[in-house]
Amino acid sequence: MDARNAHPGRLAVAAVRAISPYVPGKPIAELERELGIRNIIKLASNENPYGPGPEAQAAMRAALEEIELYPDGSGHALKMALAAHYRIAPERLTLGNGSNDLLVLLAEAFLSPAASGVYSQYGFAIYPLIVQATGATGLEVPALPHASTMPLGHDLDAMVRAVRADTRLVFIANPNNPTGTWANPEALKRCIARLPDHTLAVLDEAYFEYGRTLGCQDALEWIEEFPNLVVLRTFSKAYGLAGARVGFGVSHPEVADVLNRLRPAFNVNSVAQAGAVAVLQNPAHAARAVAATMAELPRVARGLASLGLSVVPSAANFLLVHIGPAAAAVNQRLLAGGVIVRPVVNYGLPEYLRITIGKPEHNDRLLALLPRCLEGTR
Ligand code: PMP
Repeated sequence: MDARNAHPGRLAVAAVRAISPYVPGKPIAELERELGIRNIIKLASNENPYGPGPEAQAAMRAALEEIELYPDGSGHALKMALAAHYRIAPERLTLGNGSNDLLVLLAEAFLSPAASGVYSQYGFAIYPLIVQATGATGLEVPALPHASTMPLGHDLDAMVRAVRADTRLVFIANPNNPTGTWANPEALKRCIARLPDHTLAVLDEAYFEYGRTLGCQDALEWIEEFPNLVVLRTFSKAYGLAGARVGFGVSHPEVADVLNRLRPAFNVNSVAQAGAVAVLQNPAHAARAVAATMAELPRVARGLASLGLSVVPSAANFLLVHIGPAAAAVNQRLLAGGVIVRPVVNYGLPEYLRITIGKPEHNDRLLALLPRCLEGTR
């Protein structure tokens, strides 16, 4: 074989080759294969253990009856349901294969090697990745210090100061993953108002429904006031449809128009569309799931604190926990005990683990297993 052709990967553009891949939470089946154990619980990907509810399950099964047909490329029924539910004009909407898809579309549409994107240290890992993929410059802004009221959270003032003439996108996750931290509503509004006209604020509200219970801002309230605001939401978390892959963006109609031109015609499949319409029709199910999770959040935080662990304040369905230098070893012991949590080494947080809030019995199991996993590590 011609040796010159042995490495076709090098033909990819340099910016893409430089990307370090996103590391998702370990699937249950993978740990089963690796350790040959059963009865595993996954508290690693901030999923909603209560799922989308029986009506949505039925709607998705019904959609399978017509799976030989392409989905509605315009997502008409889902857009109408979203417009009614959130009281927004349908021309402001863009549907995505998860909100991750919308992040990619925004980067593709607004960034180039001549542009830059701003995000926070410890911000969601996808932001640097998608900025880098376009060849644009990533401007990472140091997070708030440990000794602040929102340790490791976004420093919004510093993020505004980091904006340059070539900055097209500023990514703000509220609440943020992996920290769980959130923004003071007034400070957030001031930040968006101070951004120049040549910069879009991308407000990633993947965990909005959880954060709302603790006073996080609903940025959809500001969508008419700020033409440069883009709000991203997902059905993956509170609505329990992570496996279906569906999210949406709300923006100025011109931004939605740009994103809709770029969007692959059938990026949201028919089963996902049916599921999303159904969960919007039965919001009480999601509300119950969010309430159950947010009732467990302080209980788990107290349980962790009683083990001498410090926990970052969280307004989301997970907790970032400081374990110490033995975090990797503790993670291995948790895996051996059948509990998958998320190491966050890739975020530059090697001493921490991120733990999703599960059902009460999942959380009990975690809290019962942890003391043994921490033995001899401190
Ligand atoms: N934003 C944040 C802050 C997230 O944590 C996630 C999921 N981990 C996403 C966006 C993307 O979620 P999805 O593509 O499932 O909507």
